[in-house]
Amino acid sequence: MIATDFAYSAPATLADALQLIADGAKPLAGGMSLVPMMKLRLAQPERLVDLRRIPGLKGVREEDGRLRIGALTTHYEMASSALVRLKCPLLSETAGHIGDVQVRNMGTIGGSLAHADPAADWPAAILASEATLVVESVGGRREITASDFFLDPFATAIEPGELLVEIVVSPDAEGARSAYRKMVQPASGFAIVGVAARVEKTGGGVTKCRIGVTGVAGVPFRALGVEQRLVGTAGSKADVAAAVKGLAADVEANSDIHASALYRKAMAEVYAARALESIL
Ligand SMILES: Cc1cc2nc3c(=O)[nH]c(=O)nc-3n(C[C@H](O)[C@H](O)[C@H](O)COP(=O)(O)OP(=O)(O)OC[C@H]3O[C@@H](n4cnc5c(N)ncnc54)[C@H](O)[C@@H]3O)c2cc1C
Repeated sequence: MIATDFAYSAPATLADALQLIADGAKPLAGGMSLVPMMKLRLAQPERLVDLRRIPGLKGVREEDGRLRIGALTTHYEMASSALVRLKCPLLSETAGHIGDVQVRNMGTIGGSLAHADPAADWPAAILASEATLVVESVGGRREITASDFFLDPFATAIEPGELLVEIVVSPDAEGARSAYRKMVQPASGFAIVGVAARVEKTGGGVTKCRIGVTGVAGVPFRALGVEQRLVGTAGSKADVAAAVKGLAADVEANSDIHASALYRKAMAEVYAARALESIL
């Protein structure tokens, strides 16, 4: 199908983009989700504001001991950035799992997070990384923690008139290790189940554990019970097996042509165990 008619602006400054968004324009980043939705007429924006000419919305920099990731940074740039690989390897690993080469070259971390597809990969890593998401409007900036960001399928805490401009993460602590394990929907590459884990182990025991889960439910979530059960253990295979039991027990899991709710819940435990075993 062909999209309905729309106006198109490609401003050169963030201020101009924010004004257009305040006036009702829809942000366009990589277009990997928005353009197909427009072609299917699931989205019919009257005006698009293309963000790709705005300097400063792209790239990763280190500031005050934290990584600041521009919302327009592509999945490929995240996968290949030497800084991200060194400081937050979970993010580069996750980026490499997204879609195919074309999707990784065009799609952006900010576009994916704002789109909030329940089967997207980034939410798992963002939750496990305890990231902060920075949004901006003509009225100013505010920060949203990853745990407060995802509200419903395809719905986030970004308010009308706001743009996601940055994702801020703390680098891995000394001795931290991480992994992302994903059960892939083979046609699209999206996650039927995706589990991101970040673990710190000192003195022979697990001292900190953060686990983000995507694909299982309408909204990605932290596996808080698993995190609590694992901390204080030696992180043996038996400890992991005990900790992941019931990971999604209280979650209302998705059921579709790719996997039943029961299967997703079972696979969430399997993929969490795989991620944790690979770390520990
Ligand atoms: C064939 C195919 C396979 C894919 N496989 C995967 C996969 O395996 N895993 C996965 O996670 N994803 C996958 N995707 C989705 C891909 O990661 C997209 O890049 C992503 O969902 C959207 O990012 P984008 O930059 O293209 O955003 P766009 O499509 O441009 O925008 C998406 C939505 O976010 C809004 N938006 C964009 N940027 C911002 C911003 N900075 N602030 C506020 N709102 C904003 C737009 O208005 C729109 O509503 C796939 C896509 C395709 C086409």
